[in-house]
This record gives sequence, C-alpha cells and structure tokens, in this order.
Amino acid sequence: MPTLQCPICQRRIRYSSFEEVPYRPFCGQHCKLIDLGKWLNEEYRISEEVPDEHRRPPEDRAQAEKE
Ligand SMILES: [Zn+2]
Repeated sequence: MPTLQCPICQRRIRYSSFEEVPYRPFCGQHCKLIDLGKWLNEEYRISEEVPDEHRRPPEDRAQAEKE
C-alpha cells in the first residue's frame, strides 16, 4: 500500500486510494491549514524584515521537524 508522510506533523499514513487522503500531502485539514498559515507568515515576515536574532536557529528547527 502506498504511504504518505505529512510534512507538518510527520505522521505516516497508509492509503489505498486518493479518496482516503483528500488533503494529501497532508494528513488532514488541520495540517493543511497549518501549512497555509506558514505561507502567510512567510509573506508577512518578508515584508516586515524581522531581524535575524528573532528567528529560530536552524538546528532548533531541524530538531522540531524530527519529532
Ligand atoms: Zn499532519
């Protein structure tokens, strides 16, 4: 069976047809909305020019993505 890994919560989902995963590549609507919010934040950040010290260090981010 094919599987997908949600890019937001890293959950693996097994499915037998696309109808079972209408929000792919996300596991569900919740994660899809989180992703949408990330894009909106990204745009916001670019226009606001947030200083570097306010951003999370890359190691911290890699750690969070592993969870
Ligand atoms: Zn998810």
